[in-house]
Amino acid sequence: MYVFKRVKDLQNYLSSERVNKRTLGFVPTMGALHQGHLSLIQQSLDENQITVCSIFVNPTQFNEASDLEKYPRTPDKDIQKLASVGCQVVFLPPVQEVYPNGTLEQVDFDFAGLDTMMEGAKRPGHFAGMAQVVKRLLDIVTPNFLYMGQKDYQQQLIVRQMIKELQINTKLVMVATEREADGLAMSSRNVLLTPQNRAHAPILFQTLEEAKKQLAAGTASTQIEAWAMESLGSNGFKPEYFSIVNGHNLQTIQTATDSDLIVACTAVWAGKVRLIDNMVLKGKV
Ligand code: AMP
Repeated sequence: MYVFKRVKDLQNYLSSERVNKRTLGFVPTMGALHQGHLSLIQQSLDENQITVCSIFVNPTQFNEASDLEKYPRTPDKDIQKLASVGCQVVFLPPVQEVYPNGTLEQVDFDFAGLDTMMEGAKRPGHFAGMAQVVKRLLDIVTPNFLYMGQKDYQQQLIVRQMIKELQINTKLVMVATEREADGLAMSSRNVLLTPQNRAHAPILFQTLEEAKKQLAAGTASTQIEAWAMESLGSNGFKPEYFSIVNGHNLQTIQTATDSDLIVACTAVWAGKVRLIDNMVLKGKV
């Protein structure tokens, strides 16, 4: 497995590998890799001849300095894990390589309103920073396929919109959320949970499952949202939002008949750790 820190070295390697129409899959991450990341890597390995995984804790998508500071960083372990599954290339750039001209230049594209609600409303600047780094990484790697997790449903929808709007020649593939045995969505931030918060964290998943049942039974979405917020609050979380939305455009819906694709998205604080999760309540992504 190759580990590159410089854009130039990565690009030299990739251009030599790209002969004979070998396809390239790309998995951007912020490291502290877990099985969720590895499922993206695995799918890319299955579908391409070359897989590049980037590990870069992007400073421009953190809206709180303390969150950036405490974000877990485990590069040596990450490299071991990637080698063990057979990933061919790791890109581990310093900030200067990703942003040689500083971090101020942002991507100019129409978010089509996808960035105003949920994560966009709660984390100002987060999606602009995320789009900025994904665009820069796509420019560097120019992959055929980009693998992103359903875990960050709104994020992948925004990247999909960016690819379409900027006519980037890469196809986005969304990979299902990998969960712990008790239902908690895997996340790099889970290691920061206190044992007590870790113990009740699966309630988030159980609440999403219950919401799915309630929507199928004909309950209005606003009623389900209110119930979920109340229930999460009384189970030791500080819920930020629980939103039942049209999975194509994230607009609110009233009942199950309003869209062929309905997704519930939620964010809560479990102590000092912010957790997000989502579930498709109706239809297929
Ligand atoms: P991150 O390192 O958190 O930026 O995540 C990198 C990629 O891995 C993103 O596309 C995430 O959506 C995806 N990802 C994170 N957690 C999971 C999970 N539990 N299951 C599937 N994909 C995930």
